[in-house]
Amino acid sequence: MNELPASVKVKEVGPRDGLQAEEAILSTEDKLRLIDCLAEAGLREIEASSFVHPKAIPPLADAEDVFAGLERRPGVIYSAIVPNEKGADRAVEAGANEIQVFLAATESYNQNNVRMSVEDSLEQSARIAEIARGADTPSVAVLSVAFGCPYEGPVAQERVLELSGRLIELGAEEITYGDTTGMAYPTQVRELSEAYRERYPEIPLRMHFHNTRGMGLANVLAALEAGIDRIDASVGGLGGSPYAAGATGNISTEDLVHMLHEMGIETGVDLEALIGCAQLLEELLEHELPGQVMKAGICGHLMEAKP
Ligand code: ZN
Repeated sequence: MNELPASVKVKEVGPRDGLQAEEAILSTEDKLRLIDCLAEAGLREIEASSFVHPKAIPPLADAEDVFAGLERRPGVIYSAIVPNEKGADRAVEAGANEIQVFLAATESYNQNNVRMSVEDSLEQSARIAEIARGADTPSVAVLSVAFGCPYEGPVAQERVLELSGRLIELGAEEITYGDTTGMAYPTQVRELSEAYRERYPEIPLRMHFHNTRGMGLANVLAALEAGIDRIDASVGGLGGSPYAAGATGNISTEDLVHMLHEMGIETGVDLEALIGCAQLLEELLEHELPGQVMKAGICGHLMEAKP
């Protein structure tokens, strides 16, 4: 087992991964309030929107307006998900600081998600990476259902590693393993992380967990123990639509930051300010969010004993 990392780079994905699962559509202005609150709280990487076709994901149809309205803070990376060349052109035009390509680790999930074979998605990713390079914009790659697929079940480690290699060949500067439907478990996370680091020591690996089955933070700990220091999370645990069955929120950013700070791991995030962002988001959405620390409070903040 490695020593735990001294600090962790937390990427906030609420404004994209979270909001796209919400029934309610926030106004561009409210999204900008949320994004700026998160940047103010110290988050240095924020997934701001997605340049998919505006009709495909209505809650994110205002990607251009979001990027145009950002109060860009120095040192903050405002990234965007990009599904195809058209999206890449739009993201570059809008001034995204980082472009994320994505594909699924299994044929069935990829077909269901983007109506394309994995091979075709890889070709498309190559063309997107080319556009990003031409614009001097870093590109990273997300491999979804890397730990398990709702259609095919467990995904072989070798397949995940091989696809990672293909994405690295295309120029991905970082690989993210997405546990899209919350099927990952800690021993699996540790093994896959170690295998990846052994095979691709030069390219950082990031983990993206959903807390669908309550294993989110346990999986984070397993990743940390394997030396991974880049983790995605979503403010308030946003992402589980209250209207959809089997709601699948991301791990909550405040819960993650709270755990890391308790363990003495730095994040650069002001936890109280971040809890303020989660509360703001509850107000904007007019429903409760699954985050736990926002309800229970910070461990170190002691209660007054009754006399
Ligand atoms: Zn996700």
